[in-house]
Order: sequence, then C-alpha cells, then structure tokens
Amino acid sequence: MDNAASAAFVAVLVALLVGLTVGKAWERYKLRGGRWIDRRKARQSPHYILGLNFLVSNQIDLAIEELSNAAGLDADALEVHMILGNLYREKGQVGRAIQVHQALLQRSGLSTIEHAYVLLCLGLDFKRGGFVDRALEAFNEVLRLDPNNRYALLNLEKLHEEQHQWAEAYAIRQRAMTLAEPDAQDAHRAILAFLETEIGREAQRNADPKEAISRFEAAIELQDGTVPAYLYLGDVRLAGGDVKGAITAWERVVDMAPERAYLAFDRLASAYPKAGAPGKFQELCRGLIAANPVEWRARLALARHSAERGALREALELLFEALVHNPHALSIHQAIWKTLSELGLDAALVAQYVELTRGAVFYLDPHVCTHCRYRSTELLWQCPQCHEWSTFLEERIAPAKDATDAPRERD
Ligand SMILES: [Zn+2]
Repeated sequence: MDNAASAAFVAVLVALLVGLTVGKAWERYKLRGGRWIDRRKARQSPHYILGLNFLVSNQIDLAIEELSNAAGLDADALEVHMILGNLYREKGQVGRAIQVHQALLQRSGLSTIEHAYVLLCLGLDFKRGGFVDRALEAFNEVLRLDPNNRYALLNLEKLHEEQHQWAEAYAIRQRAMTLAEPDAQDAHRAILAFLETEIGREAQRNADPKEAISRFEAAIELQDGTVPAYLYLGDVRLAGGDVKGAITAWERVVDMAPERAYLAFDRLASAYPKAGAPGKFQELCRGLIAANPVEWRARLALARHSAERGALREALELLFEALVHNPHALSIHQAIWKTLSELGLDAALVAQYVELTRGAVFYLDPHVCTHCRYRSTELLWQCPQCHEWSTFLEERIAPAKDATDAPRERD
C-alpha cells in the first residue's frame, strides 16, 4: 500500500469508528431473539483492542486475525465486520471484501448512516477491483443517503478523473468545496483550475478555440498560478493568428513561475521572430540566468539559439556551464555532442567535456511526486499514481564533486 492510499484508508477507518461509536451509546443494547444483547461485547474484547493496535502499526495479517476473533464474539458488531472487509480489500482480496460488505447491507435495521458507511466500503471495494460503474453507483448512493460525505465525493471525483470525465469531476469538486473550511478553499480552487484547464484541453482537441480560450481564462481566474492554462491559452491564441496574445500568455509563465519557464521556451523562441522581436528570446534567457545562477534550462535554450546562429563556441560554453549545474540532464549531453561534432570534435574541447562529466551519476526521472514519490522523466500536472494535482518537483542531486558526501536520493 503506498502512503497516500494508506493515509486515506486510515482516515476512513477513523471516520468509521468515530461515526459509529460516538453518540450511539444508546444503541449499545439491542433486542435480539427476545433478549437484550450487549453490543459492547466485541468492542470490549482484547481481540478488538489488539486488532486496532496491529492496524495502527500496519500489521494487516495480525489485525485480521484479532478482529476476526472479535467478530466471532458478536456476529452483530457491524463496525468490526466492516473493518475486516476493508482489510481484505487492502490485502487485495477484493472478492472477499465485497462479500463481507454485501452481507452487511442485507442486514435489517441498519440506520441510514450505517447503511451509507457500508456502501462507502463497498464502493471502495468496487473501485479497487476495477468495477467502475458499480463503484460510481455505490458512491452516488452514499451521497443520496449522506449528502455531505466527503469520502464519497473524493472517490467519485477520482473515478471521473480516471475516465477523463473532467466536467463531472469539476462539479463534484465544487460540491466538496462548499463543504470545506474557509482555510481549505484555496486548495480546492487550485484543483478546480486544473480541472477547468482539462475541460479547455478537450475543447482544444474538439477544434473549439472559443470555448477553449474561455475555459483557460476561467482557470486563470480561479487560480492565477495555473501554469498549464497559460501555456495552452497561448497555443490557442497562436493557432488563431494572435501572436502577441500568445506571447503575453507565455511570458506570464516566465514571470510567475520562473522554474517552469522552460515549458514556454520553444514556444517563445519561435513566436518572438514572428512578432518582429528576434532578439527578445536571448534577452529572456539572460534575464533568467541572472536571476537564478544555477538555471540550466535557460542556458541550454540559449545555447541552442546560439548554435542556430552559428556561434558554436559560445553555445558550447553555455552548455558546459549548464552541465556543471545539472550533470544528469541527458538533453545537455546530447546538445554538447551535437555541438562538438559540428566543431570537428576538437580534442581540447572533448577533453574538457570528459573532465566535466567525471563521476557524474546519471538518472532519467528527476521529477518526483511530493505526495507519493512517483517518479517521472517529464513534469506532470496530475500524478498517474496518486492522482493528486500539481505535486511534482524536480529533484536534483548535487554536482559530481559533492556526490561522495551527499546521500543518493534514489533508492
Ligand atoms: Zn503521486
């Protein structure tokens, strides 16, 4: 189980325990077969306590064993069975989990909230098993019974996102936002902006530039820092012949998020000459390098620009500087070899290059999800593993000369 899934899972369990135990003490005694049965029996057994302890320390097999014993003491103990079902699911025994939760749904006398919680568990089983339609149905039913159930909302949103049903995901996120605390509104708004951007992308693919532009503008309106909305907005404007408008959108990325500026480099490099400002791109790269001396992508872009003008030695010098700041970028090495070849493989320059790369540790996937540690070669806006938005950072290990002291960041 990865961290994200496990955190969500524990949160659900805690919610279940709190929801079902607090304020329901009056239901402790239940009439069964003409006898009052003490419903505390399962919960007060040492098996239950041990089971929860194993659960907290993530020893799932032992937790299952103890909770099965506790469940054996009281066949009616709804929450114990519900947790057992969840544990089967987490162990990958989805069929068994579905069986347990479906059996609980058949019970008579479930309160609305109990019914909703069991359905939520069942929805998670279906989701885990890949039964998307049945999962959607279960979560929607939970929301009918318990309209403010944020777990159901969250899972429903993720299911729609996985199927690229962005408008549906957007509507659900909006609903979750109305339930959220004031200090969580910004985080919700940022995700709405990403979803709005995806809706715009869809319009872009369906050759509806007017709709696409209004969606990208709405995303920016929601959250000014939505980088992809600016990038795509520029693309649509350019395709519509609005070169100046495209440049304005892309320059905003450079100003607002200089560490993401490289995403606009190719776009700007080809747009500036069309707008009658061929020197502007160099100026932009030099500005970025001055503002952040370890900026390697601007050096790489500037080197390519110089090489195109035939200034090969100037290009190579920039590439060597870039290499010192990020010896692991394959793109720099490729550009260096291309330039070296064009310079007739000058022996002194090749020797200089070999010296610079000595001891460098290479790796290809420097972008890492800060939420689940998923790694990717390119920057992603939504993580394919944990489905969180805007969680990627570019991780860089130290230049080779420090590599012996620095712990390797890759395991
Ligand atoms: Zn992730």
